[in-house]
Amino acid sequence: MPSCSECGRKVMLAYRCRYCGEGFCEEHRLPERHQCPGIEAAKEEARIGRARAGDRRGDFGAWVDSASSTRFYLEGHVFEKTLSGDIQIDNGRFSRDEAREIAEMLSSDNPFLKLNATLAIWAKNGTIYVGLLVAAVILLAVVIVILKV
Ligand SMILES: [Zn+2]
Ligand SMILES: [Zn+2]
Repeated sequence: MPSCSECGRKVMLAYRCRYCGEGFCEEHRLPERHQCPGIEAAKEEARIGRARAGDRRGDFGAWVDSASSTRFYLEGHVFEKTLSGDIQIDNGRFSRDEAREIAEMLSSDNPFLKLNATLAIWAKNGTIYVGLLVAAVILLAVVIVILKV
């Protein structure tokens, strides 16, 4: 059984720190919780991530408020202004406020918020049903693979 490099506790599954490569228990898995030689790199990465998310939010706000009619790309989604003043995201139409909220969620570092934003876009698009179908097929494939092993 692997053990935590910080406290030595035996664990079923060690979390591998991606900055120093050592294995840790749940409690010590974050770089700031163990004597991680990569702590500065981890902090820098977090700082850059936050700055980038802030930039993306700022960019979107500037684009919405500007008279520009160019497209805006965010996290693989296309934002476009419509003549009525709504915002078209991919193939779904949203009010400005909704679009702002979705852009905010897409810019977030939280994967659940990102997923929610993507689902909201899909729901408007009608692609959510296609998405669910794809998810069901993948799930079925996974189940088949597991059963064979
Ligand atoms: Zn530990
Ligand atoms: Zn570490």
